[in-house]
Amino acid sequence: MIISGWGMYPKIESTVLRFETEQALANLIGEYYGLVPRGNGRSYGDSALSPVTVDVKPKNYFLSFDESSGLLHVQAGALLSDILEIFVPKGWFLKITPGTKLITVGGAIASDVHGKNHHIEGCFSESVKEFRIVTANGTIINCNRESTPDLWKATCGGMGLTGVILDAKIYLKKIKSQYINQVTIKTKNLKETFDAFEEFKDKPYSVAWIDCLAKGNAMGKSLLMVGDFSGEGGLGYQLKPQKTIPFNFPSFTLNKLSVKAFNELYYGKVRKKVTKQQVDIDAFFYPLDAIGHWNRIYGKNGFTQYQFILPKVHSYDGLKEILATIADSGKGSFLAVLKLYGKANQNWLSFPLEGYSLALDFKIEKGIFQLLDMLDRIVLKYGGRIYLTKDVRVSRKTFEKGYPQIDTFRQFRKEHGMDKKFQSLQSKRVGI
Ligand SMILES: Cc1cc2nc3c(=O)[nH]c(=O)nc-3n(C[C@H](O)[C@H](O)[C@H](O)COP(=O)(O)OP(=O)(O)OC[C@H]3O[C@@H](n4cnc5c(N)ncnc54)[C@H](O)[C@@H]3O)c2cc1C
Repeated sequence: MIISGWGMYPKIESTVLRFETEQALANLIGEYYGLVPRGNGRSYGDSALSPVTVDVKPKNYFLSFDESSGLLHVQAGALLSDILEIFVPKGWFLKITPGTKLITVGGAIASDVHGKNHHIEGCFSESVKEFRIVTANGTIINCNRESTPDLWKATCGGMGLTGVILDAKIYLKKIKSQYINQVTIKTKNLKETFDAFEEFKDKPYSVAWIDCLAKGNAMGKSLLMVGDFSGEGGLGYQLKPQKTIPFNFPSFTLNKLSVKAFNELYYGKVRKKVTKQQVDIDAFFYPLDAIGHWNRIYGKNGFTQYQFILPKVHSYDGLKEILATIADSGKGSFLAVLKLYGKANQNWLSFPLEGYSLALDFKIEKGIFQLLDMLDRIVLKYGGRIYLTKDVRVSRKTFEKGYPQIDTFRQFRKEHGMDKKFQSLQSKRVGI
């Protein structure tokens, strides 16, 4: 069948393997080479693309829950939304969640995803006690930090290249309400945006939308949203039906003018410097999930997300240079999300490091890869790196410079026969 990532680029023909039992999965792994596990296909680029893929999504049962510790044992194909639907009404929430709830637990571990609270709570793996994984020779390993530290460091953030995760034990956190006290701070430029992040760095959650087309004195103007869970309002959470974009928009729909108009409206509708509101979980954590197939607005050629992170000491200078380059190119992005990150963990390919990250969506069109190559050079100049789970085009050289543990990861894969067994288009491109 034809498959793609969320960016709808590239689209490839793949033999999609499904399995009933763990033994059947071990047999498939014995039989095939160059396969990659696949969750809900929400990674943007080619991380979950290969001529042979293993579909883990149907394996989505809940296995047990310990009310005293909040430890949930769940199969790797379960979506975060499945967990929220059952557990928010009981007063539990995910410790770490990305900006969509439509991803699997296996995908969350493999990308070691992070959310608006990385500066306080770290990556998804920080909420995982252990997981079971089928590796290259078909054996099932119960992996945790103590018993198999290298397999842990290679798998969390390892983009499915060490094996197929079957199930995981993850800690949930207690909440009293499904509402968040949100404060929105409107800033006039990048300096104010950074100052606001620092001022509110003790708030558990923070994220800024940034106008990436603003130039001169207004460069970096933003809406910073910070929040924490309220104690009031109840736990009556229900998954809402999505409105759906029914077809691919014509590719001229999104251009510099429409992005500029959107940015002005979005920024302009917030009148005050500081606005306080109470919003629910979906509005605060998952605004994009309200619209199904929103990826179709970029047209049939698809889009890519460019996400990089810079160490804190260089974040301000690096971002200034990158925003200036984007504004000059005129290739704007509706979505331009700036986040603050805390300390890096030990996992070999986890993306976060202490600093700031910016994520931008770009339509696939003429000149876009040249622009992103230019941005890569600035990212490297300031000691940063690119996020694999969003990427579809980074070169081997750029990738390697950003990830100093890459040789350890490569060596580990080779020693355990994973390098030939598990491959994605991305792993071949960046040479891992
Ligand atoms: C709207 C939107 C917002 C997002 N926001 C964020 C964010 O805030 N922070 C963030 O970190 N990410 C974010 N992401 C990215 C997303 O969280 C990751 O790409 C995630 O890994 C997707 O999970 P998936 O189940 O769809 O996996 P897929 O896209 O199918 O696969 C992703 C990777 O996981 C591997 N994998 C999947 N399942 C398994 C398994 N069972 N065993 C081993 N490997 C497996 C695949 O091989 C692949 O390398 C966002 C994505 C979207 C679309």
